Amino acid sequence: MIFIADRTVGKLAKWLRILGYDAVYWRSDDLRGLLRRARHEGRTLITKDTKLYKGTGPVRALLIAEDNPFLQLQEVMRYFRLPVNKAKLFSRCLICNTPLEAVDPAGAREEVPDYIYHTHQTFSRCPSCRKIYWAGTHYEHMAAVVKRLQHVDRS
Ligand SMILES: [Zn+2]
Repeated sequence: MIFIADRTVGKLAKWLRILGYDAVYWRSDDLRGLLRRARHEGRTLITKDTKLYKGTGPVRALLIAEDNPFLQLQEVMRYFRLPVNKAKLFSRCLICNTPLEAVDPAGAREEVPDYIYHTHQTFSRCPSCRKIYWAGTHYEHMAAVVKRLQHVDRS
């Protein structure tokens, strides 16, 4: 299942990417363009915009009720019964939604701070925006949230 998020749920789109789900973040005001893209690519719209939700036509959509991004993520996961796939975690660029590619440490050397290079073994790169990722503090924080999510999922 792939998604498109409007500006009302930008953080939710980022969280879906953390879980490895393909979630386009539509920044523009052009909501007809959003719906066109959703239809062409078979994306499910997620939004808090009631008016947009009511006018989606053939596009599948979920109107998000929660305000907190974590609760929103739970809402989406529950509604569509989405699994948390550990192998897919952190497999997608958080900035631009592109699947990441593994890069060997030597290849990342020039682009990460020295202390990061020396304390990490695994790096990946976004082939589109070139951002380098490694398992750092953010990663641990996000992994903790995902763990919480799995816990909630079982309850
Ligand atoms: Zn990127």
